[in-house]
Amino acid sequence: MAKRDYYEVLGVPKNADESAIKKAYRKKALQFHPDKNPNDKSAEEKFKEAAEAYEILSDAQKRARYDRYGHAGVNNGAGGRGGFGNGMTMEDIFAQFGDIFGDNSSPFESFFGGNARGGRRRATGKRGSNLRIKVALSLDEIANGVNKKIKVKKQVTCKTCSGSGAKDSSSVKQCTTCRSSGYVRQVKNTFLGQMQTTTACPTCQGSGSMVTAKCGSCRGDGHVMDEERIEIDIPAGVENGMQLSMRGKGNAGSKGGPPGDLLISIEEKPHPSLQREGMNLIYELYLNFADAALGCNIEVPTINGLVKIKVPPGTQSGKIFRLKGKGLPSVQSYGTGDQLIHINIWTPKKITDEERRLLEKLRKMDNFKPDPGKSEKGFFDKMKDYFAS
Ligand SMILES: [Zn+2]
Ligand SMILES: [Zn+2]
Repeated sequence: MAKRDYYEVLGVPKNADESAIKKAYRKKALQFHPDKNPNDKSAEEKFKEAAEAYEILSDAQKRARYDRYGHAGVNNGAGGRGGFGNGMTMEDIFAQFGDIFGDNSSPFESFFGGNARGGRRRATGKRGSNLRIKVALSLDEIANGVNKKIKVKKQVTCKTCSGSGAKDSSSVKQCTTCRSSGYVRQVKNTFLGQMQTTTACPTCQGSGSMVTAKCGSCRGDGHVMDEERIEIDIPAGVENGMQLSMRGKGNAGSKGGPPGDLLISIEEKPHPSLQREGMNLIYELYLNFADAALGCNIEVPTINGLVKIKVPPGTQSGKIFRLKGKGLPSVQSYGTGDQLIHINIWTPKKITDEERRLLEKLRKMDNFKPDPGKSEKGFFDKMKDYFAS
């Protein structure tokens, strides 16, 4: 399949500036985010395609090369190590571009790290793998944000050898292939001229040193399984299925390699009486017929305790009252949703003889004949009106 033009992929003009490219990528990434499109292969492809386009266009050097030579200028060899065509996984995309989901004013900043794309890592050792955990949160925790302390089983740096994998200091010697720099340079002749690439040293896997006798505690791996307590600051307003990432909190790397990331999936526990609809909360209020006809004062639960509301006389079933600002905050830190109170008129299922006599009497009265007229809208119309306003 022919590769699409990167500008076309992000939907930006050729002269788009850095912030427009970032914005465009952010939009695509959110649109095709795997959490929003579970088991959708084509969305996943689009997500990857956008990440690839962003990888090139967000880097001034790569972008200039792409502008001049097209895809041939940035693929394989020319771009150094890594590169998308070579099986970059979704996790790698999150690890590398996770910061795109936040902006400077966002509470996500601390998660994704302000400097996630801080240049290429020096080749040293093997990066630890990413660790995935789920965190179940109540709506109350989501409404206010929460600090969770969680025990995580993961690979940590071996204390005996400080991660070197060596038995003792005398069993470490310098790598002669790379003269302990950890990487080797290769010069390739391409049609663009000579290209120099730097790759991890194949002899020492980038660690710069060789181990002659292995550490007994970790059998030379440099890491062991252990439990670690991790503190996670979860911002208010997160949603079910959302993923946060904490850089460097995943499994330890080996031989001096950087640790992987901790990927946290948010799970929302159902609330006993409130339903969530984006930033809004919906409460189903059941009124008996007399309260609806006569009006009443009634307490309703909100995310921050009971609130008294006044139900006016003649309230119809399906009516929606709004408690402004009693919903959930936006995770992007602007605005707060509302609580919507949806009125249901309760019909008794069993009635006594006396009740039957009263109801028979009411049944024949003029005011009890339904007369909805044109002004009474159905529930869905009301919801539409509400969300449009
Ligand atoms: Zn060890
Ligand atoms: Zn080496």
